[in-house]
Amino acid sequence: MPFTLQTIAYVVASLLFILSLRGLSDQRTAGRGNIYGIVGMLAAAGVTAAAVLMGVKEGAEVKLAAAVNAPLALGMLGGSIAVGCAIGAVLAARVAMTKMPQLVAILHSFVGLAAVLVGIANYLEPAHKLTGAAHYVHLSEIYVGVFIGAITFTGSVVAWAKLDGKLGSKPLLIPGRHLLNLGLIITTVVLGYLYVAADGTSGTTELLIMTAIACFLGWHLVMAIGGGDMPVVVSLLNSYSGWAAAAAGFMLSNDLLIITGALVGSSGAILSYIMCKAMNRSIWNVVFGGFGASEGAKPAPRKEDDGVERTVNEATTEGCADALRNATSVIIVPGYGMAVAQAQHPIQEVTKLLRDQGVEVRYAIHPVAGRLPGHMNVLLAEARVPYDIVLEMEEINDDFPTTDVVMIVGANDIVNPDALTDTSSPIYGMPVLEAWKADKVIMLKRGLAAGYAGVGNPLYFLPNTEMLFGDAKDSITKLLTALKE
Ligand code: NDP
Repeated sequence: MPFTLQTIAYVVASLLFILSLRGLSDQRTAGRGNIYGIVGMLAAAGVTAAAVLMGVKEGAEVKLAAAVNAPLALGMLGGSIAVGCAIGAVLAARVAMTKMPQLVAILHSFVGLAAVLVGIANYLEPAHKLTGAAHYVHLSEIYVGVFIGAITFTGSVVAWAKLDGKLGSKPLLIPGRHLLNLGLIITTVVLGYLYVAADGTSGTTELLIMTAIACFLGWHLVMAIGGGDMPVVVSLLNSYSGWAAAAAGFMLSNDLLIITGALVGSSGAILSYIMCKAMNRSIWNVVFGGFGASEGAKPAPRKEDDGVERTVNEATTEGCADALRNATSVIIVPGYGMAVAQAQHPIQEVTKLLRDQGVEVRYAIHPVAGRLPGHMNVLLAEARVPYDIVLEMEEINDDFPTTDVVMIVGANDIVNPDALTDTSSPIYGMPVLEAWKADKVIMLKRGLAAGYAGVGNPLYFLPNTEMLFGDAKDSITKLLTALKE
C-alpha cells in the first residue's frame, strides 16, 4: 500500500474519531457518534493490517512482515484480532449495565499494560536505528510511556476491584504516604537519567525497576482514594490510558495512535475537571488528599449509637400513588439503585401516565449518580424518557422548594443533606440535589443501607420523607398498577 494512501486513511480515521466524540457528547447524536467510531476503528485496523503485510511503512511492522512470510503474518494478525474481538463481544454481551464501570476500568488496565509491553519490547529490540538527539528523545518516549502505562495498569486494576466490591471503598492511608510518593518520583527521575545514559540495552535494569515503582504508585494512588472520589479516578484513569496509547504511538511512530491517544487523554482530562468541579474538589485534593477518609465515614445512625430515637415514615404504594396523582409538579431523582433494579422502564411508564394526566414530571440528574459518568442518562435514554425533561443538577436544584413530590429511586449519596452541613462527613462539600426542600419526598430503597461513600443519610428521618421499602422495580411496578386503578 502506498505510504500516502495509508496517511490519507489515517487522517480519515482521525476525523471519524473526532466526529465520534462530538456525537457522543449529546444523547440525541450518541448513536451516530458510535457509528463514526466503529467505522473509524475498522478503517484504522484494516489499513494498519494492510501496511504490516505489505511492509511498506518503515518500523516495527516491517520487522514483523520481514520475519515471517505474508500468509503467516496474516494468520497471526487475523487470529489475534479475531480472538480479541470474540472475547470483547462475549464480555460486552454478558455484562450487566450495573457492571459497566468495572468493565471500563479493566479495559483501561489493558491499554496501560499494552503500553508497558510495547515500550519494553521497543527498548530491547528497537525498530529504528536512531542516533544523536533523536536517540535520546526516543529513549525518553519509551521511559515516559512505560511509566504512564504501568500507573494506568495497576491503578485501573484497583479501580476495577473497588467498583466491583472486591476491595472496600475506604481509602488506604499509609502514614507518610506523600513523602513515600515523592521519594518514589525522585527515584524514578534518577533512574531515568541512568537509563538514558546507558549504552545499547544496558539500561534494562533501570527500566524494569522504574516499571515496578510505577506499578506500586498506580496501586498506592488509587488505594488512597475514598469511595466518594472514585468517579474522578475513573475518568482520570481514562485520561491516563489515552496518554499511554499516545506514548505507544510515539514509540511505534504511528500517527493515528498518537492522535487517538491524545483525543482520549484530553477528553478524559476535561471530564475529570468537570467531575471535580461538580463535586467541588480540586484535582490535587482528589489525587493526593486521601479524601473520603474512613474516620468520617459512618453508617446510618442508630439509637444504640447515640440514644436518639429516630423514626422513619413508612409509605404505602396507595399513599404514594395518591401523592403523585394529586401533585402539580414531580421531580424524579434516579440513582445507582435504579440501575441495579433496572427500574427505568416502569419509571418511564409512570412518567407517561402522570404527564398524560397533566402532572409536570422532570428528572434531576446528579453528575456522579450511579457508577459511571452519564450512567443515568444512558438508562433513561434506553427507556425512551424524553430528553427535554431530563435536567442536570444546576438546571433544576433551585426548583425543589416549589415542587410537590420528589421521588428518589435508589439514590443516596447524591441527596445527602450532610454533604452541605456536616463538616465531618467524607462527602462534605459535594454539591447534592436538595430534594428535602420539596413538600414531600418519597424514597425508594430496600432498607436503610448506606450508599457508595459508606455514610448514613439523615434524609430518611425527616418529617416530610416517606420510605417505600423494596426493590425499586417491584415498587415502581406496583405503583404503576395503583396509578392505573
Ligand atoms: P449510592 O451508591 O449512594 O446509593 C444507592 C442506593 O441504592 C443504596 O443506598 C441502596 O440502598 C439502593 N439500592 C441498591 N439496590 C437497590 C434496588 N434493587 N432497589 C432499590 N434500591 C436499591 O448511589 P447514588 O447514585 O446516590 O450515588 C453514587 C455514588 O457512587 C456516589 O457516592 C459517587 O461518588 C459514587 N461513584 C460514582 C461514579 C460515577 O461515575 N457516577 C463512579 C464511582 C463511584 P438499599 O441497599 O437500602 O436498597
